[in-house]
Amino acid sequence: MAVLPLSVEKVIEEFGKLPGVGPKSAARMAYHFLRSSRKDATRLANVLLEMDQKVVNCKKCFNVSDGEECNICGSPLRDSSKLCVVEDPLDVVAFENAGIYKGLYFVLGGLISPADGIGVDELRFKELKIRVKELLAGSKNIEVIIATNPNLEGEATSNYIMDMLEGLDPSSVTTTRLAMGLPTGADLEYADQLTLKRSFEGRKTL
Ligand SMILES: [Zn+2]
Repeated sequence: MAVLPLSVEKVIEEFGKLPGVGPKSAARMAYHFLRSSRKDATRLANVLLEMDQKVVNCKKCFNVSDGEECNICGSPLRDSSKLCVVEDPLDVVAFENAGIYKGLYFVLGGLISPADGIGVDELRFKELKIRVKELLAGSKNIEVIIATNPNLEGEATSNYIMDMLEGLDPSSVTTTRLAMGLPTGADLEYADQLTLKRSFEGRKTL
């Protein structure tokens, strides 16, 4: 005999699929909505539904967008000679919040990760190459900035992109990689090998 009504079980099951949410948190979230005003659950359901129905991928950068072309790709103020390749839309948000970059983006949709069954075909490499060629038609030189995460998957993805773009005219396409290094407050002796290696490679003349 089920302890909870099936409708509640279903909500717990769905919440439990969210990133970082375990079964206990999922149950707490469901009880929160049971205890609060009915309007809260309806509001959540409505905003999720609205997002599901309205949000599409920008046809140029594949970031989430409410139209065919996102605000960034559509802006004449952005530098179309720079293309920053990121894993997912949240990375775009991080760059935009930092206010340090005025070029364009390309959202890959993930990183190469054989352990998770994500291979080259699951990501938007073909689309990236097409986009780089498109931008080359409008700019003499373009810089492709690879901004994948500094982990093994990010490195593998970065290497794949560099190999892929090698076939293009090297005098017009420059490929760069974010300097990865030690976070502020880090202790050298606790840094992992990859972090140390990247920090060393990215050193600068002072
Ligand atoms: Zn876009």
